[in-house]
Amino acid sequence: MIPYGKQDISQQDIDAVIDVLQSDFLTQGPQVPAFEAALKVHTGAQFALAVNSATSALHIACLALGLGRGDRLWTTPVTFVASANCGLYCGASVDFVDIDPHTYNMSVSALEAKLILAKADNALPKIVVPVHLCGQACDMEKIHALAIEYGFKIIEDASHAIGGSYLNTPIGRCDYSDITVFSFHPVKIITTAEGGAVMTNSQELSEKMALYRSHGITRDADKMNSESHGSWYYEQIDLGFNYRMTELQAALGVSQMQRLDDFVTIRHRLAERYNQLLDNLPITLPYQLEGTYSGLHLYVIRLQLDAISKSHKEVFEALRDNGIGVNLHYIPVHMQPYYQSMGFKIGDFPLAEAYYTEAISLPMFHSMSEEQQNEVVRVLTLILKE
Ligand SMILES: *Cc1c(COP(=O)(O)O)cnc(C)c1O
Repeated sequence: MIPYGKQDISQQDIDAVIDVLQSDFLTQGPQVPAFEAALKVHTGAQFALAVNSATSALHIACLALGLGRGDRLWTTPVTFVASANCGLYCGASVDFVDIDPHTYNMSVSALEAKLILAKADNALPKIVVPVHLCGQACDMEKIHALAIEYGFKIIEDASHAIGGSYLNTPIGRCDYSDITVFSFHPVKIITTAEGGAVMTNSQELSEKMALYRSHGITRDADKMNSESHGSWYYEQIDLGFNYRMTELQAALGVSQMQRLDDFVTIRHRLAERYNQLLDNLPITLPYQLEGTYSGLHLYVIRLQLDAISKSHKEVFEALRDNGIGVNLHYIPVHMQPYYQSMGFKIGDFPLAEAYYTEAISLPMFHSMSEEQQNEVVRVLTLILKE
């Protein structure tokens, strides 16, 4: 089976992890700060905190922005459930904004329309989470302008997007947001096995997130309520978690960061090849919003079902049956039973639902050969023309 995504681990990556195993620190040593430094250099953001997943990153980002009971968080329905769940962790309510039919990202016009209604109802969101689906940035300049007008905070879910840019600035620099979140799960662009990070330019938010990452404990005398009892002393001043990244993971991250640009370049080469080879099939190819350079985590096609004699499901299963490990990103979150039990219904976000009936993620990964890519094209062409 040709997988839809796959990590690329070099000998240098392996050596970096082995070095940590033979060192004094398996956790809370020098590798995590080194990884954070690499993330800051790459993005240009002032603060970076590595954590054990993007899910944890989203959670502490919401907490640091003060999300709580009675507040609202909005995101896109076409995302992984974690982009929405983070609001529920904080006791807030979650709602969605339908997608743009070309980029499949949160629609700015739908966001604005929903904000106008929410303002009239005195029900504005505290946080909006735009997700850079497939690695392509949302229209952040416009979302940021709406944030100023309507007074909400922005967390960019850039789980797909490290290595990409928006208006010539790296994703993660937080020019148009309060906090940006990355994921380093093995299918994403670089990996630390499990792992994530939060980026921000706010010292205050960074300090809050550092507390939430590690039990709400501080060793900083300036933040303590009382005089230090001695050099062993620490204080818990808030309720936090253990969301720390290990040294093994961070060492892998440092090593992977050195190849980030190469990873994204190769993905672009593969995507361009797909664009050419799939050009005259009854499918819609990925659309590129002007001013964005995608991290290209995913290559998503949409079937033009009117021009195909098979159903979406039949095409999908035929691809898998013929060794092509396709996937579907994503089942719209509001269609999940857990969200349906909160009152969301089929029909709530029609463009997201229409996307779901047509989308297929084709295999794309760093070590993918031209032969493998040709095989994907050959099988897909055969299935669509049969
Ligand atoms: C993968 C992903 C997450 C969660 O990442 P983890 O590191 O697995 O917790 C969140 N949001 C999006 C959009 C993702 O793709």
